[in-house]
Amino acid sequence: MPFELNEKLKNIEPYAPISGEYRIRLDANESFISLSDEVCDAISQRIESLKFNRYPDPFATELCSLFAKFYGIKSELVTAGNGSDELISVIMSGFLQKGDCVICLSPDFSMYEFYSHIVESNCIVVRKRDDFTVDIDEVISNANESNARMIIFSNPCNPTSIGIKREDVIKLIKRVSSLVVLDEAYMDFYDQSLINEVEQYDNLIILRTCSKALGMAAIRLGFAISNKKLTYTIRCVKSPYNVNSVTQAIGCAVFSNPDYIRRSIERIKTSRENLVEEMKKLEKNYPQELKIIANSANFVYTRFHKAEDLFHFLMNEGIIVRRFGDYLRITAGRNYENSELIFAIDKFLSGGETL
Ligand SMILES: *Cc1c(COP(=O)(O)O)cnc(C)c1O
Repeated sequence: MPFELNEKLKNIEPYAPISGEYRIRLDANESFISLSDEVCDAISQRIESLKFNRYPDPFATELCSLFAKFYGIKSELVTAGNGSDELISVIMSGFLQKGDCVICLSPDFSMYEFYSHIVESNCIVVRKRDDFTVDIDEVISNANESNARMIIFSNPCNPTSIGIKREDVIKLIKRVSSLVVLDEAYMDFYDQSLINEVEQYDNLIILRTCSKALGMAAIRLGFAISNKKLTYTIRCVKSPYNVNSVTQAIGCAVFSNPDYIRRSIERIKTSRENLVEEMKKLEKNYPQELKIIANSANFVYTRFHKAEDLFHFLMNEGIIVRRFGDYLRITAGRNYENSELIFAIDKFLSGGETL
């Protein structure tokens, strides 16, 4: 008998980011800032004294304590992961059993549904309102009616760039018996974090990533923050050496330079403000053609009348963004990148060029 894939893997497809060479990449919400010379020197020093023949620290102790110090929290509430993507997978495989109900929102980060499928849980998708805001009461009643074991969502949201107020998230956490996994991947660009009060809840895990505001997508590093009991459990279910020594060394070097991190975040926010300002001018000039939805993260989500044509037009100009149907998600980039993007959109909308 030939080997056959099981049901859940039969129609599986690999995650395929946009490939190819583009002059200007504004598609993946990465930081446009490269590490400073000071941070690079600190990295070199740490790498030089690294014991390559030895396994890494399984609990990334120094790294977790530097992360905790930066955010003003206790390091015993922090678990490091090989990107927050790994943590989503670890948390789902540990805290869910086959058939358990999980609440995801739509639209939201696509990996939640993917991992919930892999662990054979029952994913219930709650649609957001037409304006992409979240009806918290609807989420609460869905969770309680389905006896959901987990609710997972991003705040601010990828892809909509809409943020949810702290009070609303707290209301949700308090009114459900589900584990709430709150993905704060873009919270450095917004101001409604619950990271400082995570210990007050018995059902909250917060996720943070170093891939966006902190400019370290290459090294794969993320964190889970939760109360002591949940942290203990996450550390038990993760694989022992999930964060390699090179990543730990680089992470430590960066978090040892908090001023560098703060400056970088401010620069990205400034870039976002500039991008939004320019987009607003386009919106004013072409009211039939585009509508800005939100910009609480390091990207702007905008509806375009001709999103697909514009997407291909930009691609031909060497500029890559992410398209979701009639919407484009555009990451804030360097000044010249933002300018070239705006120039190209203007050219497209003014009808000066067609495909
Ligand atoms: C980018 C992103 C992640 C993935 O972060 P990694 O640490 O690079 O795995 C997780 N959640 C959201 C909402 C993201 O946009």
